Amino acid sequence: MNYKDYIAVVEDYPKEGIRFKDITPLMQNGEAYSAVVNDIADFAKDKDIDVIVGPEARGFIVGCPVAYILGIGFVPVRKEGKLPREVAKVDYGLEYGKDVLTIHKDAIKPGQRVLITDDLLATGGTINATIELVEQLGGVVVGLAFMIELSYLEGRKNLDRHDIFTLMTY
Ligand code: AMP
Repeated sequence: MNYKDYIAVVEDYPKEGIRFKDITPLMQNGEAYSAVVNDIADFAKDKDIDVIVGPEARGFIVGCPVAYILGIGFVPVRKEGKLPREVAKVDYGLEYGKDVLTIHKDAIKPGQRVLITDDLLATGGTINATIELVEQLGGVVVGLAFMIELSYLEGRKNLDRHDIFTLMTY
């Protein structure tokens, strides 16, 4: 199965010059979605992972079904103001301005082995901020898994101490 057949590339969305990779056609197709999830679970299964962490919202779409397959928990990373209990925070740079990501302080125990998931690796900013949150809580990041990598943005360069798994490259 060629997974790229299920990705809609939308020109100039959300603004001019961006080629947006829309994963919703893949999610709508049961065979393609389950194949992608199974591939990531295969990558993860020998890593002795305790918990999967994913940033909102598309990190949940990838991470939750993998956590279910592996029989482990899932921890959401969310924008500021969305999690109801005490959180750890990190500021991270966006193309314009700044944003804040948060995680519940009790979500990861020191020494727990963590897989981080998202739909797409672009510059790596989001995933670096997520790594920082996991490490603030004492978690050990043992892998990063994405459906898609935009290799021309070289996000991998900032993440080269990590084991990175991707299924489609543009
Ligand atoms: P970055 O922090 O630059 O690695 O951006 C990654 C986040 O932005 C991911 O969570 C993606 O969902 C989203 N994103 C960035 N670029 C694109 C793109 N060209 N198409 C779809 N989503 C994108």
